[in-house]
Amino acid sequence: MFKLIQFLLIFLASALFPTSAHAEEKLVSDIAGYQKALKSVEAGDTIVLENGTWTDFEILFEGQGTETQPITLKAQTAGKVIISGQSNLRLAGKHLIVSGLVFKDGYTPTSAVISFRKNKDELANHSRVTEVVIDGFNNPERYENESWVMMYGQYNRFDHNHIANKKTKGVTMAVRLNTPESQENYHRIDNNYFGPRQILGSNGGETLRVGTSHYSLTDSYTTVENNYFDRCDGELEIISNKAGKNRFIGNVFYQSRGTLTMRHGNDTLVENNVFFGNGADHTGGIRVINKRQTIRNNYLEGLAGYRFGGALVVMNGVPNSKINRYHQVEDSIIENNTLVNSDHIQLAAGSDFERSAVPIRTRFNNNLIVSKDQRDPFTIYDDVSGIAFDSNVINASVDEQIKAGFVQTSLTMGKADNGLQYPSPYPESSEIDKDIGVSSALSPIEKSATGVNWYAKPAESATFDHGRVVRVKPGLDTLADALKEAKDGDVLSLRAGQYAVSRILFLDKAITIKATKASKPVEISFERGALFEIQDGGNLKLSGLTITGEQSPDSAGNSVIRTQRRSMLSNYRLEIEDTRVIDLDINHSFNFLSVSKGTFADEIKITNSEFKNITGAILSLDKEADDLGIYNAEYVIIRDSSFDSVQGDLVDFYRGGTDESTFGPHFELIGTELNNVGQGKRNKSKSSMVLHGVQVSNIHSNTIKNSLPLRVNHTVGEPVTRITKNAFTDTPELVIQELYSDKTDTAELSDNRYLNSK
Ligand code: CA
Repeated sequence: MFKLIQFLLIFLASALFPTSAHAEEKLVSDIAGYQKALKSVEAGDTIVLENGTWTDFEILFEGQGTETQPITLKAQTAGKVIISGQSNLRLAGKHLIVSGLVFKDGYTPTSAVISFRKNKDELANHSRVTEVVIDGFNNPERYENESWVMMYGQYNRFDHNHIANKKTKGVTMAVRLNTPESQENYHRIDNNYFGPRQILGSNGGETLRVGTSHYSLTDSYTTVENNYFDRCDGELEIISNKAGKNRFIGNVFYQSRGTLTMRHGNDTLVENNVFFGNGADHTGGIRVINKRQTIRNNYLEGLAGYRFGGALVVMNGVPNSKINRYHQVEDSIIENNTLVNSDHIQLAAGSDFERSAVPIRTRFNNNLIVSKDQRDPFTIYDDVSGIAFDSNVINASVDEQIKAGFVQTSLTMGKADNGLQYPSPYPESSEIDKDIGVSSALSPIEKSATGVNWYAKPAESATFDHGRVVRVKPGLDTLADALKEAKDGDVLSLRAGQYAVSRILFLDKAITIKATKASKPVEISFERGALFEIQDGGNLKLSGLTITGEQSPDSAGNSVIRTQRRSMLSNYRLEIEDTRVIDLDINHSFNFLSVSKGTFADEIKITNSEFKNITGAILSLDKEADDLGIYNAEYVIIRDSSFDSVQGDLVDFYRGGTDESTFGPHFELIGTELNNVGQGKRNKSKSSMVLHGVQVSNIHSNTIKNSLPLRVNHTVGEPVTRITKNAFTDTPELVIQELYSDKTDTAELSDNRYLNSK
């Protein structure tokens, strides 16, 4: 009966309004067909892209739909229309809907993959992009600045999209307010899956930015709700809010390095968000700057970040700040948040000669702060009398200045059905306000409720050793042959004997090469200028081997391992354990590792290994010499190893520039012996090791003999440098320079001994 009425109504409508109501569905199978269909498109029409791969398709989707009769562009089957090659999507007009497309295996020729405008004058309004995938749609040049989604216009919605694996420089998604037509926009960004974004190693790795400093005093009214941010590690801002009256509600941040930063703009609401750090390095929470900010009912657990990357950071401002500096925190509210096992809450953070305006007229109440080890997470950098503390509960002792606003009590926490921890049982104390911490009604969005259900969300997996074990026999190029057949995660297990390699071994997958038995020697020699070249997607682990340079060509500048010559999108890992590297000395400047500009290692780790007779450097990580804040590796770790007669540097680690957008680089040297390192006449640094702009260094319990000095150059940020319990024999004192700051003695130096045997 209902169907009949519906039919009659439609029939009646089409009889009365024959042109506008005759919604057409046009299936198109090529680009010319699409363009033809677009020319005659009317309100209510749908253009359907036939399933298959569309290559080099710059989609301009423009039209004038109406609220009840939008114009739709969709895939014949959601997920079965692949847009590849040199492709992008622009929307212009109103009441447009795009859905079901997958952007992969290509990149945009312009500065955006999806843009809510045709050009600077023709924008999209009241339009929606939903159930679209952008996966690894990266320009092959890592530092070519590009964004994936640019929102312009007003009243647009971006929802249920899957956006993952951005590896190039540039914010993943931005809301622009650059003309009045894009301000007070009331956009909605909801239920999206923002998948993994690897460490960029430079500024420009934000996942979402709303506004820019230039328009930051303009209101945006953008709502960012129920999105899932999964391992968004690009740089120290996951979200950078830079405009007024935005709302960030109900989002989940899963093991993401960085913070939701209220960098500019006032009247922001940050409510019902959940952060799970899992104790991972630099996982942070919420950073508060500017006026009338509300931070309410957020749950933050297992966040290890510190300084500006802490779980909760309230900044100092600059008096009469310029628009692009730090505005004072005023009239803000921080209430009913729960922080569990999160390491750092920073108040009046960034206090210095310039940032001297302390937070004022701000409330901090009904927050619950607990940690397993009953540790006080607060660091207070300046006068915090402008923050009123009231009815907070903590299971640690806190600073005298703020103590009156806390009830200190021991608490047992239990996990509730929503996956969050609450006091269990609730402490019966008359002093405790029952309304502390997050509400029991807070219900974090499930990962599966974001993005699309027809495109897999990337799992967390180990880089190495998850494939087959392949036995390899000694001989000429047996290793090269085995590698050709190997798949990602495979282990090449080498029987004892001599392996000669006549060609460069190219790696575009994760491979482990190990001795079958640790006690039986495996010796590898090679005849080209490099034994291994790590290419995009490559990762290498060496275990229990001896590598000699004695068969290498008699020319300068060989390497055991190098990265591909051109820029590389994917970060790589290099692990060396229980390995001997000897006689890289057939000619000068023979390095163990040489990298190219535009390449980036997540981690380089050398453990329990021995290096001897080397005419170049061990780790040459100094190819980003433009001082743009770019560098070559995030973590370099050397433990329990020895380096003997190395003419170049043990490590030449360079991070230039003055911006503070990266957490790294990090360096660790522990339990290691250096003898005769750095003395080669070609070693320009005149040192055994250079750490320039490294943010975290730990040099501990090493023995350094007959070597040139260690050199540490502090540049920006507040680098953490610990040099402790090292013994220096016949080695000049280490040199620490503060290059751009007037601070002195910021390094922790203790228990270092200097001996002179001569
Ligand atoms: Ca940034």
